[in-house]
Amino acid sequence: MSRIDGRKNDELRPVKFTRNYTKHAQGSVLVEMGETKVICTAMIEDKVPPFLKNTGKGWITAEYSMLPSSTQTRKIRESSRGKIDGRTQEIQRLIGRALRSVVDLNAIGERTIWVDCDVIQADGGTRTASITGAFVALVDAANILLENGSLKRMPLKNFVSAISIGIVEGKYLLDLCYEEDSKAKVDMNIVMTDKEEFIEVQGTGEEAPFSKSDLMELLTLAEKGNAALIEMQKEVLGELASKVLGPTEETT
Ligand code: UDP
Repeated sequence: MSRIDGRKNDELRPVKFTRNYTKHAQGSVLVEMGETKVICTAMIEDKVPPFLKNTGKGWITAEYSMLPSSTQTRKIRESSRGKIDGRTQEIQRLIGRALRSVVDLNAIGERTIWVDCDVIQADGGTRTASITGAFVALVDAANILLENGSLKRMPLKNFVSAISIGIVEGKYLLDLCYEEDSKAKVDMNIVMTDKEEFIEVQGTGEEAPFSKSDLMELLTLAEKGNAALIEMQKEVLGELASKVLGPTEETT
């Protein structure tokens, strides 16, 4: 039996990146994974948080939010409640860690790149779509610094993308939509680089403990999904993709 939307178990939803989606941010990407849509922007600020002052190092920080109408029932704006909930905190930290892991913070100098991921429509996998889209926005923002002579080389060491996987009705599934996510007994989010290395592995078997062999099956699916996503990032970045360098020794 095929999935709710007719996909194979190891098939991604249709993925689309639209670069330069908004005007003011140095990097701005609409990422769509099926019905999930997230606007990811990257804006450069010429200062760093106090703990990095006079270190020569820069910072990447991420914020995440969902528009009230992005979910099936209206989601109250966190700003009107006056506090950020735990899920949002967890997601924005995850996005920040994922992106910092592929950026040479010494190479961006004393600057902060603010990455904002705003979900305009949620149908599962918003945090993973945010990471995958934000990376493309980050490349565009870094390239502005390169083009205007502020940087000598691209401060990115690797590509990074993320995907969800899970066990739904006994099947290992790649890239869960909301309906699948809500039935999943095990669900995971995996962040990886283009070198097929893991940046972050988040998983829970709260409803049904999972075995090591389940984990291996799921990681194999995630590898496949992330490899495909990174190919798509490369394609949409065109010649910029080749400017994303491997690790170099000249920075410390
Ligand atoms: N969701 C929702 N309201 C919320 C949080 C989540 O409708 O306040 C839906 C949304 O479709 C989301 C999905 O539940 O994509 C799965 O949420 P989860 O917390 O697992 O994060 P995600 O998979 O989006 O990273």
